[in-house]
Amino acid sequence: MRIVQKFGGTSVGSIERIQAAADIVKAELDKGHEIAVVVSAMSGETNRLLRLANDMNANPPMREVDALVATGEQVTAALLTIALHKLGVPAYSFSGAQAGFRTEGSHSKARIKDVQSKHLIQHMKRGEVPVVTGFQGIDAQGNVTTLGRGGSDTSAVALAIAVQADSCDIYTDVDGIYTTDPRIEPNARKMRNISYEEMLEFASLGAKVLQTRSVELGMRYNMPIHLRSSFDLVEGTRVSKEDSDMERAEISGVAYNRDEAKVTIKGIPDQPGIAAAVFGPVAEADINVDVIVQNIAEDGRTDLTFTVPRNDYQATMDLLEKLRVDMKAREVIGDDTVAKVSIIGVGMRSHTGVAKKMFDVLAQESINIQMITTSEIKVTVVLEEKYLELAVRALHQAFGLDQANPT
Ligand code: ASP
Ligand code: MG
Repeated sequence: MRIVQKFGGTSVGSIERIQAAADIVKAELDKGHEIAVVVSAMSGETNRLLRLANDMNANPPMREVDALVATGEQVTAALLTIALHKLGVPAYSFSGAQAGFRTEGSHSKARIKDVQSKHLIQHMKRGEVPVVTGFQGIDAQGNVTTLGRGGSDTSAVALAIAVQADSCDIYTDVDGIYTTDPRIEPNARKMRNISYEEMLEFASLGAKVLQTRSVELGMRYNMPIHLRSSFDLVEGTRVSKEDSDMERAEISGVAYNRDEAKVTIKGIPDQPGIAAAVFGPVAEADINVDVIVQNIAEDGRTDLTFTVPRNDYQATMDLLEKLRVDMKAREVIGDDTVAKVSIIGVGMRSHTGVAKKMFDVLAQESINIQMITTSEIKVTVVLEEKYLELAVRALHQAFGLDQANPT
């Protein structure tokens, strides 16, 4: 097999961890696999470098910020290569530019255009290990670019696609994705397999184990991702294409997000363009709107309720208050003690009544549902934050997630 292994910040966070990563590389190589490696910077290093830039100049030029933060990954790539040599493994480190990562020009959030990786494949075929810096590339003008925070996941998946690997193994400090947060529900179970779509839904709810873009990329090119721990070498969670033969449970997991707030603007005129007039300024203020509910109009007036990240609560309230005056709306109210709970799973496509079951379970616990939104593989409710744990546990149990099932 040809495998791209990626080691995240905590997995290369010290000399000992880099040695442990080298052991993992060697173990896979000894099984006869062809290996390329992608590394993050040592944990905390990218933040430290960004602070240095800001201490130097509150408004540093982005080109130079990229040149600076790209060094974090260069340190770990070289150190891991040095560690591999000590184990007798032939290895070579490559910067993003050397590895052939070509990107669009936008600094600090560049997108990968392609990876010119033929030379890396030659090394792999000879049993040598290319060790590549994640998170970076080079633009058409030869400037160093970076891919956005957490971008080395995307580097790893892109490299795996470019070298036509059989798997992209992402080593991190958690050993997989669980049916829910084990801190809330001790019976949570690690999922062995999960589809790309499910992973994207879990990721958007704060399970920030993988950069979203890396999962989207994996999905587009059908690259299997094995998310696993470098601290405990057990089987992790495999993210891949949905398996249609597999008999699916109703849902795969229960996710939540605590950092929510809810705002309502009441008595706005019910006319075309009104939603755009409200959400335009909100978007301009860079506030991410999530669940939206618009009431049926009465007497030519309507109410609009939506959720925003709790950090943006006050800014949103201020903005709506301005709009209220402009639009002659009736009132603005808000609540920053709400939370979001979602059930997620591709099984929803083939089972009916899943949403109803969720509402029944919450009703039994006397939990009031404030808002509801659904997608093909997800049902989300907004509720009072104090009921979050209860809701998660009740749903996890009612959908049988703590028992063995064939996910
Ligand atoms: N070192 C970069 C960051 O901290 C990229 C990564 O680790 O994925 O965001
Ligand atoms: Mg990461």
